[in-house]
Amino acid sequence: MDDRQFRNAMGKFATGVNVIATETDGKIHGMTANAFMSVSLDPKLIVISIKEDAKMLEMIKETMRFSVNVLSREQQEESMIFAGQKKMEDAFKFDYLEQVPVVRNALAQLSCEVYNEHVEGDHTLFIGRVTGLDLQDGDPLIFNCGKYRELKELENVSV
Ligand code: FAD
Repeated sequence: MDDRQFRNAMGKFATGVNVIATETDGKIHGMTANAFMSVSLDPKLIVISIKEDAKMLEMIKETMRFSVNVLSREQQEESMIFAGQKKMEDAFKFDYLEQVPVVRNALAQLSCEVYNEHVEGDHTLFIGRVTGLDLQDGDPLIFNCGKYRELKELENVSV
């Protein structure tokens, strides 16, 4: 199989969209990421996967803290900004949770500290211990087959 085929296969798996954020020397850096999973309830752990050439990789290694922000349907622009697909004139305005920068109006904001890390191929998996969270109601932004989408409820059939 070639790389394109592999990417197309992975793209069939619909996901939400997150922004990962961290702060070093007073400078906040954000990055769009959909490689995210809940790992454990006790302790409360999640995993993110960061490619080897992303600036975010060295920054998380330095700070050992990051946030995961689950974007809402209204936050496609934020996703594009932090994927380098759209430029902002001014610096993005972040809020804080447990001293970690978070994206305002995200459906879920999770502050995390690095619990473990594993280099696997060309990505690094960071296991994050969740130190705080904040939730909001709303519909998620969806990513599938390389496109942004929204959720649609299907007819519920009673069995
Ligand atoms: P850069 O490319 O330099 O930064 C990303 C962008 O964010 C730049 O345009 C920068 O100007 C902007 N930015 C950062 N901080 C600020 C700020 N404070 N204010 C304003 N703008 C700012 N890659 C992965 O490794 N893992 C994934 O799981 C993953 N999932 C993705 C899912 C989707 C839906 C998309 C679209 C991309 C995904 N990517 C993923 C790719 C990743 O988002 C991009 O390659 C990204 O550009 C890598 O960021 P970087 O840390 O190298 O920094």
